[in-house]
Amino acid sequence: PGRRGGNETRTDTHCPYCALQCGMTLTPAADVAPREFPTSRGGLCQKGWTSASLLDSPARLTTPLVRTGGELRPASWDGALDLIAARLTGLQAEHGRDAVAVFGGGGLTNEKAYLLGKFARVALGTSQIDYNGRFCMSSAAAAGLRAFGVDRGLPFPVTDLAGADVIVLVGSNPAETMPPFLQQLQGAAAAGGLVVVDPRRTPTAEQANVHLAPAPGTDLALALGVLHATVAEGLIDEAYVAERTAGFDETWRIAARYWPEHVERITGVSAADQRALARMLAGAGNAYVLTARGAEQHATGVDTVSAWIDVALAHGLPGRAGSGYGCLTGQGNGQGGREHGQKADQLPGYRKLADPAAREHVAGVWGVDPDSLPAPGRSAYELLDVLGRPEGPKAMLVFGSNVVVSAPRSQRVTDRLEALDFLVTADVVLSETAAMADVVLPVTQWAEEDGTMTNLEGRVLLRRKAIDPPEGVRSDLDVLAGLAERLGQPAGRFPVDAEEVFTELRAASAGGVADYSGVTYERLRAGEALHWPVPAAGHSGTPRLFLDGFAHPDGRARFVAVEHTGPAEPPDAEFPLQATTGRLLQHYQSGAQTRAVPELAEAVPEACIEVHPDTAARAGVAVGEVATVESRRGAVTAPVRCVPSMRPDVVFVPFHFPGGQRANLITNPVLDPTSRMPEFKVCAARLVPAGAA
Ligand code: SF4
Repeated sequence: PGRRGGNETRTDTHCPYCALQCGMTLTPAADVAPREFPTSRGGLCQKGWTSASLLDSPARLTTPLVRTGGELRPASWDGALDLIAARLTGLQAEHGRDAVAVFGGGGLTNEKAYLLGKFARVALGTSQIDYNGRFCMSSAAAAGLRAFGVDRGLPFPVTDLAGADVIVLVGSNPAETMPPFLQQLQGAAAAGGLVVVDPRRTPTAEQANVHLAPAPGTDLALALGVLHATVAEGLIDEAYVAERTAGFDETWRIAARYWPEHVERITGVSAADQRALARMLAGAGNAYVLTARGAEQHATGVDTVSAWIDVALAHGLPGRAGSGYGCLTGQGNGQGGREHGQKADQLPGYRKLADPAAREHVAGVWGVDPDSLPAPGRSAYELLDVLGRPEGPKAMLVFGSNVVVSAPRSQRVTDRLEALDFLVTADVVLSETAAMADVVLPVTQWAEEDGTMTNLEGRVLLRRKAIDPPEGVRSDLDVLAGLAERLGQPAGRFPVDAEEVFTELRAASAGGVADYSGVTYERLRAGEALHWPVPAAGHSGTPRLFLDGFAHPDGRARFVAVEHTGPAEPPDAEFPLQATTGRLLQHYQSGAQTRAVPELAEAVPEACIEVHPDTAARAGVAVGEVATVESRRGAVTAPVRCVPSMRPDVVFVPFHFPGGQRANLITNPVLDPTSRMPEFKVCAARLVPAGAA
């Protein structure tokens, strides 16, 4: 490939952003066009259409930067890598292996995620590695594991959804986050069966046949009410429950107390609507329950997902052809990113780091002693919260993440980053986190390198190189290899070629849950649709899981008995509103990439505060005026947008923006006890005129 060399070659690839991984073609002149692909059916959203802008953006980093005299100044690659190796070696010699932390991202390719995990465990020998997927998919992953024994976002192809007559979306707003996905919902919408559960009347809720708007943090109670109605009205699929599940009796002992009128008082969703949803699910030919971050980003996120899985099990949906439960993955490689070992407790193949057999297998592939592999480390927020403290790491390497904007309680996180002795970031632009670093490494992005991604349906995709990277930029794989060598690793232990890394990843994943051993670049180049597990060279992949049984030893799915407890921080007289956060159509995650795309930045240049007009009036602020949302942890200041469909007790702030508009200045970092997911989606807050804070 050339760079800006004309339009003669079209490379088939995928969008750099979300987990739908829409199909597109790209020319060396960065001409983007949609192409037919099952998840996107020829569609792209505004983010995808404009994605090539970042390739040549003035914001693009093209030389390493090293902080000298308080300023980030251009440096040579050798100088930057030598400095990093020397500082990390020194800090580890003084404070031990765990003095260095590594933070990854759910947008990294499978190869990068894999090599990052290996780099942390082998080259650094640190236990302190986790990644931003902890803030994204961890609750659904944990709930899927305990219900089904395997966590794959959608255990069926996206296109199966088109045949459903009822689809229940819980805490999902694909009309803004992944618009081409809406095509898969049209069958259900036409049948009158598209149901959206969301405290906000989002653009997705606008298109639904039924919109249920529970108070933030009460989705779990709503699921219990629907389960209660299902059982009480004799709508449960008794044969399925008897033959394919375990644990119903214990679950019902709790759900029996959640009769719909009681749940109406907790959630604000009428008892009639709860019963109607139970009847819709029971009457459907094919039905799906799908959860996303709205249900999952809570201190009770795992239990909330479990409650909705319980509803799906009561109606006999999971593991039945044409029906099911699934979680809509957010980040581009949210699925693959959680399978290959950049998670604190995990090794490649979705193996557990604490499992001796897993350690032995992976250590064998890596050519190291299993006993040399560290124990599981801290989860993302717990790691960020101890940076620079006596018991915490003194240095951190960040790849593909912008925690200053994306982590909860972001001022605390910023303070912890400042307390580090040494911070390194590898990124495409000078993100808010990179701007704090001591060394910034400019790395390649999607169209400039080969790499695989695993989309929301567990399908492994090849994102191909379409153009050469700008001069001065290196791939993350190159960076890891260069650092590993400087840290004393033998030559060749950290390959730089993506296909070579993938070959090693296949061996490391072999025999694991997420088994990629039969996936090759050659098969992907040929366009084969390979959904993991693909355990052998001739294996055609597993598009649908659980049709013959679930992954627990007895083949049964588990009902999980869960109880509603509500938000960790309920509203009170001082903070009477409930603040929630989410995404906008034009921006992606922390906005580091999309804020650098002129069309997107011009369309939505800053955050807004969405409230009901009465809420704004009570606070003494008018539409368009700048106001402040305060919580016990901080304040966000932005113009007010009055939305008559908002619940009067809720205030919404999008989380893509920096500085004083960081939604995460107010969010509550209380963690789910199982997934360690922070409670991004609800905290007590108040609205005041700007300047009154
Ligand atoms: Fe498709 Fe997501 Fe890219 Fe939009 S951001 S084009 S929905 S992959």
